[in-house]
Amino acid sequence: MKNNFQPQLPAEGILINHDYGNTKTYTVVCECSSPDCSHTVWIEADASGVTVTTYTKQKTKFWSLNRFQIIWTLLTKGWVEYEASIIMTAQQSANYANVLQSASCDVVEFRKQT
Ligand SMILES: [Zn+2]
Repeated sequence: MKNNFQPQLPAEGILINHDYGNTKTYTVVCECSSPDCSHTVWIEADASGVTVTTYTKQKTKFWSLNRFQIIWTLLTKGWVEYEASIIMTAQQSANYANVLQSASCDVVEFRKQT
């Protein structure tokens, strides 16, 4: 597929929340406009490199497991599968990719200078 989507500034669907220099935080909104789907993304530079952390409301795979099976999986295996989806336009996904790239460079540069 030909890439016709150049990243925009300001960027559709990507909101900057905070810029702390070595950390930048963004909200990535869902096309369905429900705040329940939006992702909060932290991009931080530290000694080990860049850490990208995504916060979102996740839902268990309720269609494949009932509540007892979820509890049983947690008891016997120690983990439960969750999933989160977000709907983006092609333009927004280009913006998201660009924000990950440019913010990672920015936080690393900031850390080098301090
Ligand atoms: Zn949504």
